[in-house]
Amino acid sequence: MQSVSWILHQTSHSGNVGSAARAIKTMGFDQLILVDPKNPEAIHAPDAVALASGADDVLAKTQVINCLDEATNSRQLVFGLSARDREFGPPSISIKEACAIAKDQSCAFLFGTERTGLRNEDYQYCTHRVWIDANPAYSSLNLAQAVMVCAYEMRQSLQDTHQLNRSGEVPRANIEAINALMEHLREGLIAIDFLNPSHPKKLMERLRSLFDRAGLYPEEVDLLRGVAKQMILKQDKGFKL
Ligand code: SAH
Repeated sequence: MQSVSWILHQTSHSGNVGSAARAIKTMGFDQLILVDPKNPEAIHAPDAVALASGADDVLAKTQVINCLDEATNSRQLVFGLSARDREFGPPSISIKEACAIAKDQSCAFLFGTERTGLRNEDYQYCTHRVWIDANPAYSSLNLAQAVMVCAYEMRQSLQDTHQLNRSGEVPRANIEAINALMEHLREGLIAIDFLNPSHPKKLMERLRSLFDRAGLYPEEVDLLRGVAKQMILKQDKGFKL
């Protein structure tokens, strides 16, 4: 349960922070992270403490940090929770599918703000967009309720693994490695004139969707970076001729 973290992005209501702490503790988790909360003192706010109830220990050790990349970088899987579909971004899967692939990987569940949810740009830190099945005409849960459903599903999934005693899957590349690969490839694609920086035509977004769907392993990231490096070197040689 150590390798699962629960990230609340720019949360407005301290009460939700307390309720989320309670939700994850009841399901056996304890890593709550607040990224840029509206109230930087949210973990000490009276409504947070009241709603955390017996989960005051989880609340007290909740990390408060400034940016999403710091919260997500070391994770192999980052699930961005959203009730809404998006045109671009990582592949969309259900919470059950997410919990099934998360069993042997370090993962984070990322939740958006109460009012507007996650922004498109927040999905660059996610490997998947994850939805909780709900009434299509009214699908938006309260933030802490969404945390509760995910924590419950993750617990069920981990218990299934325990009972089946499955052997571990090879860990995927983490988000930091994927983002570094994207930057390297972007430079390479510009070098060979495949990507025009003034008219990028969503090329990088489409490649990112492909990589997220594939779920790259670290050696595959190295392989693709090797390709990018050669593309850049070829251009440098071209200049010298
Ligand atoms: N009004 C916001 C929703 C805010 S609910 C919007 O339109 O996006 C707060 C957070 O709870 C969301 O950002 C999301 O992370 C999570 N959430 C709520 N309902 C969900 C659902 N049905 N599926 C996945 N995540 C959900």
